[in-house]
Amino acid sequence: MNSMKTTSFIRVLFLALTLSLTPTFRAESLKTVDDFTAAATKANAVLTLPDWEHTPEAVDAMMKTAIDTANKGLDEIGNQDLSKVTFKSTVVALDDLTWAAGNAASRAVVTKESNTDPKVREAAENAVKIFQDWAVGIDYREDVYKALKAFADTKPKLTGEDKKLFDETMRDYRRAGLALAPEKRKEVEDLRKELAKVGTDFDTNIVNAKGPVVFTKAELDGVPDSFFSSPGVKTGDDAYTVMSNVTWQYVTVEENAKNEATRKKLYVIHDSLAKDTNRTVLNQMLALRNKIALRLGYKSWDDFQTEVKMAKTGAGAKKYINDLISGIQPKFAAEVADLQKMKAADTHDPNAKIGTWDWRYYDNQLVKQKYAVDKEALRDFFPFQKVVDGMFNIYQSIFGLKFEKIEAPYKWVDDLQLYMVTDAASGEPLGMFYLDMFPREGKFNHFAEFGIISGKQLVDGKYQRPVCALLCNFPPPSADKPSLMTHADVETLFHEFGHCLHEITTRAKYGRFGGTHVPGDFVEAPSQMLQNWVWDKKVLDTFAADYRDPSKKIPADIIQKMNDAKKATAGIFYRRQFAFASLDLAMHDAHPENAQWDCVDISNPILEKVFLPIDPSTTMVTYFGHMNGYDAGYYGYAWADAIAADMATVFEKAPQGYLDKQAGMKLRKEIYEQGDSRDVAVSIEKFLGRKQSVEPFLEKIGVKGGGNKNKAPGPSKEQR
Ligand SMILES: [Zn+2]
Repeated sequence: MNSMKTTSFIRVLFLALTLSLTPTFRAESLKTVDDFTAAATKANAVLTLPDWEHTPEAVDAMMKTAIDTANKGLDEIGNQDLSKVTFKSTVVALDDLTWAAGNAASRAVVTKESNTDPKVREAAENAVKIFQDWAVGIDYREDVYKALKAFADTKPKLTGEDKKLFDETMRDYRRAGLALAPEKRKEVEDLRKELAKVGTDFDTNIVNAKGPVVFTKAELDGVPDSFFSSPGVKTGDDAYTVMSNVTWQYVTVEENAKNEATRKKLYVIHDSLAKDTNRTVLNQMLALRNKIALRLGYKSWDDFQTEVKMAKTGAGAKKYINDLISGIQPKFAAEVADLQKMKAADTHDPNAKIGTWDWRYYDNQLVKQKYAVDKEALRDFFPFQKVVDGMFNIYQSIFGLKFEKIEAPYKWVDDLQLYMVTDAASGEPLGMFYLDMFPREGKFNHFAEFGIISGKQLVDGKYQRPVCALLCNFPPPSADKPSLMTHADVETLFHEFGHCLHEITTRAKYGRFGGTHVPGDFVEAPSQMLQNWVWDKKVLDTFAADYRDPSKKIPADIIQKMNDAKKATAGIFYRRQFAFASLDLAMHDAHPENAQWDCVDISNPILEKVFLPIDPSTTMVTYFGHMNGYDAGYYGYAWADAIAADMATVFEKAPQGYLDKQAGMKLRKEIYEQGDSRDVAVSIEKFLGRKQSVEPFLEKIGVKGGGNKNKAPGPSKEQR
């Protein structure tokens, strides 16, 4: 929380899907990294494989050495003659040492999530904690700050990426309070500590909040049989206990229970979870954040939080969300009207209204009636290896790359694969990626891309090429069938591998700006854009085929139905998202120093205005975990979705659509290679060849073109 540094050290990018690669055994032996040394030298690049630790002792020692080395570097910066400071001896030296330490931390994170020895994982977990504690302290090294300040006082004339690095490094210090007088700084530090403590209470109260509700079988009419036989649900003769705090139980009942009173009762309990504890706690958090922001010279917490994002100001984020709220209105209203008709028919009440407790149920009915697709049957079209090869072919072709499987000198599991990425035209090696695709005991249980070595220009002028890994959990092959993926798995794979490309193709000079080290409200956008690929028949037909008879492709009407289903409830889905974004920004808006304001008084009216009628006794925000961590940041989800849709238009308008090479190369050059070395808003506009627009997003979710004419959304006018 106290600076962006800690978070930018270790960047793990989650989302959806995995790649599972069945090991392909080839007669010829694989190339090794050494086979690419000559090409790397020619390109003035360095290829390094991580030196993996295999024992707990080695992990401990690795982190100790990394921190000692970094501390030595910090001492050197702090001990220099302040009359002779240079850009290199201050700002760049700090980037060098934080980059090296960050790589050590990233390796520890991957070890923690993937090593097969629980003792090694435990040591790595500990190493990550040690690193995080140490990283927080960097901002508070007074001697280091003095050296950087001495350089800043020379009023250096810098340009481009150098200037950006300088500005943002000094900004970090200002945000940490180092630019304040000592007693004021102490105050901010104390407020931060208190905020961290109250934040922990907030999280704990959410974890501890339990909301059991007992229903009879009749009251749960419509809920699938499998629910009743789940462990712990049947608690007596005709008594079924639904835990409103257990998400799948809550959602299953809300989606399926025919009885409105049942849905409403459960919803009221759910949206009142942690009401007695967290209303006070959240109010304290809001007041503390406000105080910190004011002390640091910001008008509000949302200004403080968005300064380092694309949005840049709270007002910029608010305008964007408000434009989306009004832009989506026709689609939202139409969807609610459809649900209302269904409810009117159900209840024989022509005036029936859709409340917050109704939308899941009627959305579910609508999708079942109109757009049902057998998701399980679709798996036959997605055998793992075919999907991976298909995706590789597409990405290699559109981004001008070549992927070659190479020998991994160290494998933490047998089926681990390592690939070298080269530029297809010049043969320049660009970096490497590991694929660890199937689940196992003790492994990271989701799908994510992990940076291991970030790209950076080294002190000797050579460029360190990046290394990253995908840790995924695709369905393993069974005795009689290959690994068969769901469509959602395929989408996840296309998404996660996008992060890999962003990481590996980077050309940013400084570690701080390399690859995916871009603002948090942008980092997901390029990968979210790539998710479009798997909803397109032309793309799917290049690799998706029935594994028993590859001449069979997915029928066009099925793909159409899937697309229609996605669109059918998008208005409601997004208006709910926008309501959350709005109430988050409103709670963190400008308030005078000692003002009193209440989280529920602010958020409940917004929920009702932007989304659907609520029960006035509920306190949804008291159980909204995002408010500790994504505070004044929830808008980022919608922000990235809208940018992703906007960027996709470059492909959609290109002659070859999602398979267009020119559009792909433009993405590689203007977005991936740049990282954060220039303002991402500039990169986006260079890629688009025009100003940003929310229109494509609205069109994508089904608002007919012309519904909203807001061009250049986001922080446009104020910022540029
Ligand atoms: Zn992602």
